[in-house]
Amino acid sequence: MKLARNRIVGLSLTVVLATTICAAAGGAEDETPYTLVDASPTVIMALRDNGSNLTCVALDEGLIFFDASLSTRTASLFRRAMETRFKRRTIALVLTHAHLDHILGMGAFDDVEVYAAAAGRPRWEHFVGIEWDERAVKGYASVFPTLPDELPDAALRLPTAWFDDELVLGEGDDTIVIRRTGGHTVDSSSAVVGAERVVIAGDLVQARRRPYFGEPDTDFLAWINALEEWEKLEVGGVCPGHGPVIDGAELGVIRQWFQEAAASMAKTKQGGASFEEVLTDPGLPAGYWPAEDAAPRWWAYCVKRLYDAS
Ligand SMILES: [Zn+2]
Repeated sequence: MKLARNRIVGLSLTVVLATTICAAAGGAEDETPYTLVDASPTVIMALRDNGSNLTCVALDEGLIFFDASLSTRTASLFRRAMETRFKRRTIALVLTHAHLDHILGMGAFDDVEVYAAAAGRPRWEHFVGIEWDERAVKGYASVFPTLPDELPDAALRLPTAWFDDELVLGEGDDTIVIRRTGGHTVDSSSAVVGAERVVIAGDLVQARRRPYFGEPDTDFLAWINALEEWEKLEVGGVCPGHGPVIDGAELGVIRQWFQEAAASMAKTKQGGASFEEVLTDPGLPAGYWPAEDAAPRWWAYCVKRLYDAS
C-alpha cells in the first residue's frame, strides 16, 4: 500500500465510520471466498459474505468486471476463474462507488483500464491518501474485520479513467450502459447489460439485508428514482452490491420500503420529534430484510441522515 499523508488520524471514529461503510463486512475469510451465480449466460456474479459482490460481464472482445471487494486475493481468484471459463482476456474494471469494501481489492486489475464516476473523486483521493498506521487500521477494522488481513496485498490507487454521468461499453446485444445516478452516494453508478437488461446495481441494491444510507451525500430521492427506472425497464435480474441476485418483483419491494421510510420519517419530523427521540424510535416501516437482523452500529448514521434530509 502506498503511504501518503494521513487524513484520517485525528478524526473521530464517528467520522471514520460515517465515511467508510456501506454494509458492514461479515466474519473471517473462509476457504471458499465466493459463490458463483449466473445472472445470465454472460453475467456472472461472485456472491460474497465479506466485502462487496463482484460481477463479470463477458463481452465478445473481453471481460468487464464490476467492483473488486475488500480482497485482492478474492478478486484475483474470480478474475482467473472467469478468464478460464470464457477463454477471454480482461479488458476493464468498473467501480460502482468509492467505498472501501468495493475498491480495496482493485490491485487484481492493475493491468487494465479502471473506470469510476468523477463525482467520487474527493472520496477516492481521501482513501488513496490514508496512511495505514495502527489507529487507522483499528478504526476501519471495527467496520471491516478482515481489513488488516487484506491490507498487505492491497494496492489502492486512483482509477485510470473517469466518467461523468454515462459510460457505454460494448456494442449491439452486448452493450453495457453505465449511469451515475447518485443515491447511496453521489458517485453511485450502475449498469444495465444487453438485451436481457441485467442490472449491476452496486449499493443501490443491498438485497435481503439492512441498507446503508448514512453518508452526507446519500440522496433518497435519487435512490428511489434509480430503482423506479429499473422497474420500468422490466429488468432481467439484479446483481446487488451485497446480497443475492434478485428479480424485478423484489426490486419493487425494496423501492417501496425506501418510499415508505422517507414518508414515515418526514411525518415523524413534522410532528416535532427530536433526533434523540427518533433514534430511540425511528418509526420506520418493517424492513425488507430478515426480522431477526439486529441493527448494526452504523444504523444510527442512517437514521440521522434520513432525519436530516426529511
Ligand atoms: Zn457503499
